[in-house]
Amino acid sequence: MKKFIYMDYQATTPCDPRVLDKMLPYFCEEFGNPHSSSHAMGMVAAEAVECARQQVASIIGVKDARSVIFTSGATESNNLSIQGAARAYGKKGDQIISTSIEHKCVLESVHAMSKEGFEAKIIPVQKNGIIDLDSLGKALEAPTVLVSVGWVNNEIGVCQPMAEISDICRQRGVLLHSDAAQAVGKIEIDAALVDLLSISGHKIYGPKGVGALYVRMDPALRLKPLFHGGGQERKMRSGTLSPPLCVGIGEACRIASEEMSAEYARLAEFKKYFLERIFASLGKVFLNGDAEKRIPGCLNLSFAGVEGESLMLGMRDVCISSGSACTSSTLEPSHVIQALAVYDDLAHSSLRIGMGRFTTFEEVKYVADKLIEVVTRMRAMSPIW
Ligand SMILES: *Cc1c(COP(=O)(O)O)cnc(C)c1O
Repeated sequence: MKKFIYMDYQATTPCDPRVLDKMLPYFCEEFGNPHSSSHAMGMVAAEAVECARQQVASIIGVKDARSVIFTSGATESNNLSIQGAARAYGKKGDQIISTSIEHKCVLESVHAMSKEGFEAKIIPVQKNGIIDLDSLGKALEAPTVLVSVGWVNNEIGVCQPMAEISDICRQRGVLLHSDAAQAVGKIEIDAALVDLLSISGHKIYGPKGVGALYVRMDPALRLKPLFHGGGQERKMRSGTLSPPLCVGIGEACRIASEEMSAEYARLAEFKKYFLERIFASLGKVFLNGDAEKRIPGCLNLSFAGVEGESLMLGMRDVCISSGSACTSSTLEPSHVIQALAVYDDLAHSSLRIGMGRFTTFEEVKYVADKLIEVVTRMRAMSPIW
């Protein structure tokens, strides 16, 4: 067995070696600037970038690859969507609506816009982590420039009803953005449901430092760019593109589309085994987020009477998280678990198990057994249990 068992696929994924192979020639050999259209080296790089753009478009069901622009990651895609759309299409006093369980880069972008006169409207989710459509409908009665809802949540793995959300926004003529960093490559995504959609390379077995943003083409949206420069990426994202990174995210999308359904079924088996094993051996364990409307590879559990942090210390050979990577340096329970209205002590006892492409059944078994052992031991020592 490996020295560490990696069960944190929502924080990041390893780069698939097949992806790296495709990237390598674009560092030292085919190093042309993809924006140098005057010579052959530039054109080779540009062709690679355009092929990657097509691969990204294809995994989100989009024909016109021009609607995909490359960024540095989902953080940038989310910032560009929210700030760029609000500045281009909003007016003072308009709401930007999002939910209480979004990734920090979405929530912080929304809040940052209040300095420019926009109203940050954060709507609650239900106890199962699914957006409350009535709250969304009500919130939309006030003038709104943009709604931003994550397709799949990175802490609890629940999938939002994007078709319904899309209907509601379209009826009101309000733009819809979705952070799909955790959804692309795992479930079928139809970008036509939204106007803007964020993707991250390193969540789908591609490299870190690259992302993509779908920007609706027909009719074309024009986002106000975050920074100024040569006007690359349809004037919305200046800066020289990195062909190796673009090729990486493209190949990652190609592989994911090909393997998605088999991988989903494999992880669904792991999920079933893991939960059955845990629930059969431990009482007072709670699955955070809806049991069905979820991706199988992300399980967030609360173990009554045990602190999530001390649980992790008891399992040092397993790379696991008690929340999102960005918030786990603080001892506050994650804003996502808190938003589910779980009791405070349960919020402190949550653990996220993230399984993915390189997870084996042996690892799933090992982690389930280890968890049962550690939780049982800690509860036995606890004066309050
Ligand atoms: C990882 C993640 C991000 C940030 O993506 P980067 O590419 O690391 O900037 C944003 N949203 C969600 C849902 C994520 O899982």
